[in-house]
Amino acid sequence: MDFDTELRTAVGAATGKALAAQLDLHTVGDLLQHYPRRYAERGQLTDLSRLAVGELVTVMATVHSTRRIPLKQRKGFLLEVIVSDGSNRIGLSFFGQPWRDAELRIGRSGLFAGKVSDFNGRRQLNNPDYVLLDDEDGTDGSAADFAGSLIPVYPATAKLTSWTLARCIKVLLDILPAVADPLPMEILAQMGLSDLDTAVRGIHRPRDRSELAAARRRLAFDEALGIQLVLARRRTSAAVNPASPRPPVAGGLADAFEARLPFELTAGQREVGAEITADLSRNHPMHRLLQGEVGSGKTVVALRAMLQVLDNGAQAALLAPTEVLAGQHARSIEGMLGDLGQAGRFGAADRATRVTLLTGSLSTSARRAALLDAASGAAGIVIGTHALIQKTVEFADLGLVVVDEQHRFGVEQRDALRAKSATPPHLLVMTATPIPRTVAMTVFGDLDTSVLSELPAGRAPITTSVVPALDKPAWLARAWQRVAEEVAAGRQAYVVCTRIGNEDDPATDGDGDGAGGFSDLDPGDGTGPTDDGAPAGEKARYAVLETMAQLAAGPLAGLRIDTLHGRMSSDDKDRVMRQFSAGDIDVLVATTVVEVGVDVPNATVMVILDAERYGVSQLHQLRGRVGRGSAAGLCLLVTEQSDGSPAVARLEAVAATTDGFLLAQLDLEQRREGDVLGAAQSGRQSSLKLLSLLRDEELIMQARDVARQLVADDPDLSRQPVLAERVAGLMADERSRYLDKA
Ligand code: ADP
Ligand code: MG
Repeated sequence: MDFDTELRTAVGAATGKALAAQLDLHTVGDLLQHYPRRYAERGQLTDLSRLAVGELVTVMATVHSTRRIPLKQRKGFLLEVIVSDGSNRIGLSFFGQPWRDAELRIGRSGLFAGKVSDFNGRRQLNNPDYVLLDDEDGTDGSAADFAGSLIPVYPATAKLTSWTLARCIKVLLDILPAVADPLPMEILAQMGLSDLDTAVRGIHRPRDRSELAAARRRLAFDEALGIQLVLARRRTSAAVNPASPRPPVAGGLADAFEARLPFELTAGQREVGAEITADLSRNHPMHRLLQGEVGSGKTVVALRAMLQVLDNGAQAALLAPTEVLAGQHARSIEGMLGDLGQAGRFGAADRATRVTLLTGSLSTSARRAALLDAASGAAGIVIGTHALIQKTVEFADLGLVVVDEQHRFGVEQRDALRAKSATPPHLLVMTATPIPRTVAMTVFGDLDTSVLSELPAGRAPITTSVVPALDKPAWLARAWQRVAEEVAAGRQAYVVCTRIGNEDDPATDGDGDGAGGFSDLDPGDGTGPTDDGAPAGEKARYAVLETMAQLAAGPLAGLRIDTLHGRMSSDDKDRVMRQFSAGDIDVLVATTVVEVGVDVPNATVMVILDAERYGVSQLHQLRGRVGRGSAAGLCLLVTEQSDGSPAVARLEAVAATTDGFLLAQLDLEQRREGDVLGAAQSGRQSSLKLLSLLRDEELIMQARDVARQLVADDPDLSRQPVLAERVAGLMADERSRYLDKA
C-alpha cells in the first residue's frame, strides 16, 4: 500500500465511497493530505462565543446540565443538553433519543458536531453527532482513538464527522508501511527537517505541540519546494534559451524620444532603465518583473525598452488586462511618441514607427488591418488585450513582450505570447500592486525583480477619508459638495460603485472584453469587488446607473456626468474615456473598470461607494487614479458600516497610509492564501494546504535555495524521480487549469 492506493481498497468499499462522495478523496494520499483544520486540546474547550449561525462546527465542550422536556403533540420528550466551554454555553437538542441522557452525564467532555442554528436568540445544535472523551468506566472505545492530548479536528461534512475521519486515518496509519522520503537525507539534515514518514504521522496524531510543529514544518516545506522547483526549472530552461540581443542603437528612436521627454526621469526610472538595457543586450531572454507604485511612471520605462528593441528592427507587444487600459496605453504612448509614432502619415519623423491597437472588439476590417500591421512589421508597437494571444496574430519579428498589471495573466498566457517568435522574445512584466516578498517569491520566483519606489517629483499627496454615511449623513452631503467644488475649480472626479444596475449581482460586471473570463476567478484583484469583510447576504447599496441618475438629479445637478462599466460596448467605453481624458466629462460614475492604470491627471477626487466591499490593495489601486497631476488628490471611502467594525478599521488603515507595500502586507494578512495567489495561479493554490505566505517566509526562502541547488546539480531532476514527477504534476495542473479557463 502506498499513497496511490485507492481508498476503496485501503479502508473498505463503503467508507471509500463516502470519502469520495463527501470530500472528493480517492487515494490514500488524498486522505493523508486531508489535514486537520485545528487541534483540540484535552482539557481546553472550544470558545463557544465565536460560533456563527449556519456554520458546521466541531467543538469540544463539557456537559453542564440536561433536561427532559415533554413533547406536547406526541409521546416522548425532547432532551435539552447545555454544554459549556467554561464561560459560554450552547444548547444541544435531541429528539426521540431517550438513551442519550444516560451517557451525556454532567461533567463529561466530548466533541460535538453539527450545524449552528438560532433558537429564540440562542445558539444551538440540533441532533448533533458526538463522541465522549475521558470515558471513566472504559466502556466507550472512542476516547482511545485519540491517543495524545491533541485531538485533530478535520474539515468535515454533516455525514462524515471529524472523528470518523480521525478513526479512518488511524486505521490507515496503522497498516501503512513506512513512507519513503523523496528528499535526499543531506537536505533533511541541512534544513533540520523531519523525515516524511514521521511528518505524515505527526500531523494526524501528534503527541504534543512540538511534534506537531515539526510535522507541519516538513509538510509545508514540501509544498513550498514543489512550487520553487517549478520556478527554478522554468528559470533555468529560460536562461539557456537563446534570444536575439537588442542592444542600444545610438541615434535611434530611443535617443530621439529621450531628447523630447517633457520631464526628467526619476533616479529609479534611470536605474531600472539601465538594468533593462543590459538585459536586452544579452543573448538570453530577459525575464524581469517591474514593481512600481501606482503613478511611479512604469509606462515610460516600458516605452524606452520598446524603443530600444525597435531600434534593432524588431517589434514590441504590450499586453493589457482590459480594453479600457489597452486603449489608454495606445493613446498615451502615441501621445508621448508624437511624430515619432506616425510612420506612414504626413509629418512623421524619420525612423518613425507606428502603434497599432488590437482588441477583441475591432470591426472585421479594422482587425484585418491591425493583423496585417503586426505581421508585416509595419507596426513597431502592438498594444492589445487577450486578443493578442490568439493564433491568428503573427508578428514579423517580436523582440519584446511587455505585460502590464501582471496579476491578471498566468504563466501560460505569457508563454503563449512569447511563442509567437522564433527565438523567445524578451519579457518585461509590470505590476502596480506591490507584492509582499513571499508572494513575489512564490508567484514570480522565475523572474528577476526591479522596484520603482519613488514617485516623480512634484506629485501632490492624496488625502483619504472614511465617510460613515449612516452615522454621519452630513459627511456624505459634504463629499458631494467637495466633488462639485473640484469641478468648479476645473477638476474632474470619479465615483466608483460595485454594481452596474440595481438588479445586478456584483460578479456580473466583467470588462466585457475577454478579461472578464479571468476576473471571474479573481476575487481579490479582479474587476469585481471582494466579498472580504462585506456583510454576508447584504447587497451593495450603490449601482452605477441609479447613482448617476440620483447625482444628476440631486447634489451634482448641472455637471457633465457620464458612466463607464463593463456592459457598455467597446466603442462607448472608448468614447467615454476619450471624453473624460479630454475634460469633456466632469464626473465619471464607474465600476472598477477604472481600477487599473487609467491615467487622467486632471482627475482629483474619487468617491468610492460601499467601500468596505473592496480589498485593501484594490482600494489602494483605485485611489491611485487621482492625484496623478500636480493638484492634490482626495479619496473618500463611503461606507454604511458603523464605526468600530472591522470593515471600518480596514478602511481607516487604507486612509492612514499610501505606502503600497505596507498595505499589500495588510491585505495578505486579511486574505486567504488562495486569493493571494490569484486566479492565474490557481494550480498552485490547490497545492498549498499548509504553507502560509504570511508566516512561512523563512521556509519559502529555504525551499527556494534548496530548489535552485537541486536544479543546478541536476536540471531534469533525473536523480530525484519522485520530485520530478511531482513537479511535472504541478506544471500539468497549471496547464490544464489554464486550458479549462481559456
Ligand atoms: P504607472 O506606474 O502607474 O503606470 P504611469 O506610467 O501611468 O504610472 O505614469 C503616471 C504619470 O506620471 C503619467 O502621466 C506619466 O507621464 C508621468 N510621469 C512618468 N514619469 C515621470 C517623471 N519622471 N516626471 C514627471 N512625470 C512623470
Ligand atoms: Mg500603468
